[in-house]
Amino acid sequence: MTLLFVNAAQVVTCRGVGAARRGREMSDAGVVTGVAVAVTDGTIAAVGPQAELERGYAHASRVDCDGRLLTPGLVDSHTHAVFGKPRFEEQELRAAGLDYMEIARRGGGIHASVRDLRARDEDSLLELAVVRLRRLASYGVTTVEVKSGYGLTPEDELKSLRVVRQLGERLPMRLVPTWLGAHEIPLEFREVREGRSEYVRLLVSTMLPGVASEGLARFADVFCEPGVFTIDEARTILTAARSAGLGLKLHADELRPSGGAELAAEIGATSADHLAAISETGIRVLAESNTVATLLPGTMLFLGKEKQAPARALVDAGAAVALATDFNPGTSPTTNFPLIMTLGVSQLRLSVAEAMIAATVNGAAALSLADRIGQISPGFSADLALFDAQDVRELPYWYGDRRCVATWVRGRACHTSTVETL
Ligand SMILES: [Zn+2]
Repeated sequence: MTLLFVNAAQVVTCRGVGAARRGREMSDAGVVTGVAVAVTDGTIAAVGPQAELERGYAHASRVDCDGRLLTPGLVDSHTHAVFGKPRFEEQELRAAGLDYMEIARRGGGIHASVRDLRARDEDSLLELAVVRLRRLASYGVTTVEVKSGYGLTPEDELKSLRVVRQLGERLPMRLVPTWLGAHEIPLEFREVREGRSEYVRLLVSTMLPGVASEGLARFADVFCEPGVFTIDEARTILTAARSAGLGLKLHADELRPSGGAELAAEIGATSADHLAAISETGIRVLAESNTVATLLPGTMLFLGKEKQAPARALVDAGAAVALATDFNPGTSPTTNFPLIMTLGVSQLRLSVAEAMIAATVNGAAALSLADRIGQISPGFSADLALFDAQDVRELPYWYGDRRCVATWVRGRACHTSTVETL
């Protein structure tokens, strides 16, 4: 089966080596005009002058891009998409000045999501997540990482990861499962002496072997922040996860600089995520490492924080920066990835090309997939998105708009929507 994508106003190829793009390498998104893209059996076969490819692929099925923008499918490398009820009641409490502790005291916060998820079965969680991921797909996302982390018991964490596995079977999107049993210390362990160390033991000795033996996760992640998991606890959990064959991720330096970025580099984590409070040393160490710095500007915006991660300093120091939604019920309930790219430019001061690379190649690198997705280049998977725009700069410009009209994963139609007549 061969497809030929023709008549795109621009093709944003993001082409380059199949690895994270660092520092100045992020400043070229490989935008080309007058080219067609040939796809054979789900893989990109050629990108070249349209007239030439029309001759070479005369028998291919044509996909008319009709003067729109063709890009690699967006890669959302950080979500918590398996959850039960949303937590919209917390937003105006925050606006009224209530802090996290007070919201938690009233029964809200992450513990509310944990209580809710524990009470649901797999089918209920699956139905909710299918709808949410379809929404994410409708914004141009073709690969999504999904974390567990609202179960916090061996059986509820396995239940969450089995839901992710089912999502992968049900949806055409590419799913990457991450075990985040270390998202929080559950209340039943917080309230007893030695509870913390007991919970870390439960994570390492019971939960992790269960997750690994069922092959339910590609990555392990830890929420490393003062008051949640310490640097030493995160090191213990992630070292065990590495021995169990999982890749490593870390929620690091979101609210206060605690050495999370340094730990991520030290243990060779695939990504360090959040980083709004990363230290100067953390920036330097990450820039010298192979760890991708995944920034989540939607979270800070939604929480009403003035502060954002120092994206400019990270890129200028030579780090590989990725952008992601952090889609979750408490602090970033959005599936609008292009809006995150808008924030990447307007809040994080990235160039459009840098935001584009951060949402494709470097998102893929944050999932150890940069050798097969994230660019429109021969040999890469035909994971593509078509936007109702003529210029790449329009993607972050029409902020909040849903401009994506279609996506393909491995050359198969994933999402399609009818274009409204303006
Ligand atoms: Zn997160």
